[in-house]
Amino acid sequence: MFTIKDHLEISDDHLIIGGVDTVSLAEEFGTPLYITNESRVIGNFSAYRKAFPDADIYYAAKANGSFAILRMLAREGAGADVFSYGELYMALLAGIPREKILFNGNSKTDFELQKAVDIGVKVSVDSLDELHTLSNLAQGAGKKVEIAFRVNPDVSPKTHPKISTGLRSSKFGIPSEEVVSAYREASRLPGISPCGIHCHIGSQILETTSFTEATHKMMDLVEKVTDIGIDLKFVDMGSGLGIPYKKDEGPAPTPKDHANAIVPIFKEKTKALGISPKLILEPGRFIVADTTILLARVNTVKKAAKNFVGVDAGFNLLVRPTMYDSYHYAVVANKASSPAEETYTIVGPICETGDIFAKDRTLPCIEKGDIIALLDAGAYGFSMSSQYNGRPRCAEVLVKDGKADIIRTREDVQDLMGRQTLPARLM
Ligand SMILES: *Cc1c(COP(=O)(O)O)cnc(C)c1O
Repeated sequence: MFTIKDHLEISDDHLIIGGVDTVSLAEEFGTPLYITNESRVIGNFSAYRKAFPDADIYYAAKANGSFAILRMLAREGAGADVFSYGELYMALLAGIPREKILFNGNSKTDFELQKAVDIGVKVSVDSLDELHTLSNLAQGAGKKVEIAFRVNPDVSPKTHPKISTGLRSSKFGIPSEEVVSAYREASRLPGISPCGIHCHIGSQILETTSFTEATHKMMDLVEKVTDIGIDLKFVDMGSGLGIPYKKDEGPAPTPKDHANAIVPIFKEKTKALGISPKLILEPGRFIVADTTILLARVNTVKKAAKNFVGVDAGFNLLVRPTMYDSYHYAVVANKASSPAEETYTIVGPICETGDIFAKDRTLPCIEKGDIIALLDAGAYGFSMSSQYNGRPRCAEVLVKDGKADIIRTREDVQDLMGRQTLPARLM
């Protein structure tokens, strides 16, 4: 059953976030609407920093790239893990220093690599082919690029197959047994300074044993790479710590549990080797997932094969249930403490059968005009949104201490034209 998260409250039967009534937010800003609680973002980031006091925390910008979020994390001292020039651009604009940015990606364009060289960010290199391209570009610019190799550590965390990234068969990284020769190659190449090692085993991971396994494998590689004379300045263990989308899946590991799975192994090995690389973590989901709700208004209720509730948000705004079969609690925001009476399936307006947010949920009696809040929508929510089905993207609001500010205005149909043009013959 739904239990209220500690930054959400219920007052007068209404759902409250960051001290603000969600029902009045729906009135003021319209629906669909993403609402993020600033204090919760800061709190989650602080929890990570506290759990890893000696590490650098590089926020994975793809989880939620909204500018206000990048900005508040920049002010907290976060670095960034970016996966495209677009994310790099936004992270820099938000004030994240280039020294604290790692440019990731398994298929970067030459343009992106050139940008990384020119701006001077660290690059996580995913293949020998990429290494050579980067070396040429750096040489051409008369620069030296700091690199890590993205290692495929061959561990299989228990998570959805679409977000398991460290399997042997995954497209990411260099197989462990080729890593040492990759560093040998890198140390020979002009324009390249091999100084880090990187892995990221997946996302929404709720057991810490795979973090431990990955750390053992990575620290073995750290030893081998150190043995051939590479001076490692950082070891980046990625992240992937999951959050309890569903309470009855049992207790979820905390950042502290994540730290306990990694730090002792890291410390022991670096001490034995007499080296002192910086540990880097790249949490995305954990920082933002539970900070944000998606509000949608009920358009229609229909008794058919199921008791369908049609709302005004669809998978164009929150694709996780459709793409990853993920679970999000649904709360009737204007009847938040009313007794649950009926079983409903909450669906979006998109012309696809898979456009389902919540299946067979027992909720208070729902009528047209009610407001549904989908919880834990902050990670891989808006950042994966689209205009599919001719649907302009919704607005985003940031709340803090009882106040609400718009951080992204609602698109309208003119935004559907975007940058499209017509050839003369169709004018
Ligand atoms: C996506 C990603 C992350 C963040 O993963 P979360 O599950 O959101 O914590 C970190 N590092 C890399 C390289 C990633 O691709």
